[in-house]
Amino acid sequence: ASAKAVQAQQAAEQAAAALTAEVLEREVGRRRNFAIISHPDAGKTTMTEKLLLYGGAIHEAGEVKARRSSRSATSDWMELEKQRGISITSTALTFEYNGCQLNLLDTPGHQDFSEDTYRTLAAADNAVLLVDGAKGIEPQTRKLFAVARLRGLPVFTFVNKMDRPALNGFEIVEQLEKEFGLQSYPVNWPIGSGDRFVGVYHRPTKKVVLYEKRGQAGRSKGATKAEYDLDDPELQQLVEADLWEQLQEDVELLEVLGDELDLEGVMAGKVTPVFFGSAMNNFGVELFLQTFIQLASRPGPAQTRSGVAVSPTSPNFTGLVFKLQANMDPKHRDKVAFVRVVSGKFEKGMKVRVARSGRTVTLAAPQRMFANERQTVQEGFAGDVIGLTNPGAFAIGDTLVTGPTLAFPPIPTFSPELFAYLRCPPNQKKPFLKGVEGLLGEGAVQVLYNTDEYITDPVLAAVGQLQFEVVQYRMKDEYGVDTTLEPLSYSVARWVKGGWDVLEGVGRLFNTTVMKDVYGRPVLLFRNDFALQQVLGEHADKLGELSPYALP
Ligand code: GDP
Repeated sequence: ASAKAVQAQQAAEQAAAALTAEVLEREVGRRRNFAIISHPDAGKTTMTEKLLLYGGAIHEAGEVKARRSSRSATSDWMELEKQRGISITSTALTFEYNGCQLNLLDTPGHQDFSEDTYRTLAAADNAVLLVDGAKGIEPQTRKLFAVARLRGLPVFTFVNKMDRPALNGFEIVEQLEKEFGLQSYPVNWPIGSGDRFVGVYHRPTKKVVLYEKRGQAGRSKGATKAEYDLDDPELQQLVEADLWEQLQEDVELLEVLGDELDLEGVMAGKVTPVFFGSAMNNFGVELFLQTFIQLASRPGPAQTRSGVAVSPTSPNFTGLVFKLQANMDPKHRDKVAFVRVVSGKFEKGMKVRVARSGRTVTLAAPQRMFANERQTVQEGFAGDVIGLTNPGAFAIGDTLVTGPTLAFPPIPTFSPELFAYLRCPPNQKKPFLKGVEGLLGEGAVQVLYNTDEYITDPVLAAVGQLQFEVVQYRMKDEYGVDTTLEPLSYSVARWVKGGWDVLEGVGRLFNTTVMKDVYGRPVLLFRNDFALQQVLGEHADKLGELSPYALP
């Protein structure tokens, strides 16, 4: 190592040491990092806007959407988004509220989700489950919740659109219990719904907070609060008799179900605080925020592969690359690596080592994404997400360190549900293979191969249709290859843990196609869950353990 490098290293160490534990403790302690889990149309964009409004990060509702659409005017890459009317790009939105810094990891809100949706969720510390009050739990919510569950995230539930005819609060609570095994702790409780939505009963303060139909006025900060005690005669005047009686009954029932919040249960993701409101009308959002910042998990320690816990307040900087995003700015044709700060302090211009390659990289132009606008970040602490524009050196799952080399467990890949051959046009083998390799390396899609070695075209395996489109778009845009896609009618994949020997021992499998992954390991494809169950019914013992995910 050159004397210069040694000097730089020493300087970095001194700087790290100079950081008082106090600063780290304070900064980490005030961070809350979360992702919203919802089904399209439940109101995630609206909710995000209202949250940002309270945080003062935007000044007028509609800005999030406005920024989203103005963006596509300047960007070719976003052409695809524009055509589809969707947001492919996940970004981290940062805002302040009551002394806390909230980082909202924005997962794409469209039906078409991709592995990035999952990866983003893998970088979150808390999940906000946003439910449409009329529809209850919906399919995409289930998928995303499964990931939150896998990670044991605390879950906070916001039941939205109470200004529309909604399910009874107890029905929602029952769904949460039945479908997710989540016990509910309603923090507030709705009084009526739809045209007869009166407001909520806020249990911690034992006050009824009246809903005011604000329509367009609800777009500005600070809905008027009118609070009443439960037994206030004035309240009884205001609320229709049947609703008032229902409220008294409900309150009693809630008390019977439990009036103590089980904090440990919340932290373990077993108990969910539940809120009711109307994001569009700016009702219930602030009540939610107030409780959320109190209860949500702050960035915690992360386990390395060898089982060592890295404390978020450790003076050594550690970061985890959880997502790569291509061409957000086609003028520069660059790629952004999204890094979650795991420990220590991130500083603009700092030098870090990529644990995998040992390469030292200067983080010269770190950025924070705001509704897809880049802001340069000067510093960051555990729980923050930073976009780095020199990601040639990075791969998903990479650890960036200033201290001792360490590695985190791989970010899980997710079980693909869509499969299609990507066909190479004649005479374009070279750029085609280069493109596939590049996109594969970035984690844009998973790839399988036919076991017949003469069939060399890869089978793309994805969790969302959008991933296919992105691959085709980028193959053309970046590698100049016009590919065709040939969908396959499978929807379930299982990796055979025992490998080829086990598979040979089983013999011919009915209704099953065998492929291999990029490491040459066997993967079984089934048309549907039924076909899988059939095969399991006959061969479960011989097949041994099957995994829905690519094995690490
Ligand atoms: P996303 O797909 O989850 O991001 O949902 P959006 O935020 O785009 O909302 C979907 C639709 O529901 C939009 O037309 C919103 O105006 C509407 N919406 C959102 N929140 C509410 C609410 O609290 N009440 C009512 N009535 N409509 C809402």
